[in-house]
Amino acid sequence: MHKDIKHILITEEEIQEKCKELGRQLAEEYDGKFPLAIGVLKGAMPFMSDIVRHMDIHVELDFMDVSSYGSGTKSSGEVKIVKDLDTKVEGRDLLIIEDIIDSGLTLSYLVDLFKYRKANSIKIVTLLNKPSGRTAAISADLVGFEVPNEFVVGYGLDYDQRYRNLPYIGVLKEEIYQDKE
Ligand code: 5GP
Ligand code: MG
Ligand code: MG
Repeated sequence: MHKDIKHILITEEEIQEKCKELGRQLAEEYDGKFPLAIGVLKGAMPFMSDIVRHMDIHVELDFMDVSSYGSGTKSSGEVKIVKDLDTKVEGRDLLIIEDIIDSGLTLSYLVDLFKYRKANSIKIVTLLNKPSGRTAAISADLVGFEVPNEFVVGYGLDYDQRYRNLPYIGVLKEEIYQDKE
């Protein structure tokens, strides 16, 4: 375990098992279709990579980078497009892949945007859900794990651009962000 991690919340094995389950379920739901999977950068990268490899169908991959968080642990409430899709959304079946839904502001912004761009359908899969943080009226179609209202890192999730590469989800030791806020 990394020295900055206080404890592991979800193990690598639990994540891998869940990705297999979700990927297979999505493959069934999109059977006969050619969905456009949209990974929300950068946090969804490992999850997207693992989940699509269990989808035994044709699936197109694209990425979007939006930011609603600064380098700290609190939401700024603002959503800005850092990188837009390369693909035209009109008439497509979209699968938005997220790392975590907290306030829901990022996702409700994206869903509105894709509706405006005339997507045929929109589904959301998130690895983690923090229901206690929600301010926007939005929910995922598929959720990997519910997490408590604690700041988590690993498996795509960062603190100050670190820890995304950890294969598990964990909680940081307090001293790591004590001096920063
Ligand atoms: P929302 O717009 O739903 O409040 O926030 C979504 C984004 O905030 C996530 O994609 C993620 O980047 C960041 N975020 C929310 N909660 C956490 C957390 O517990 N840990 C980390 N590392 N990022 C979080
Ligand atoms: Mg995200
Ligand atoms: Mg972040």
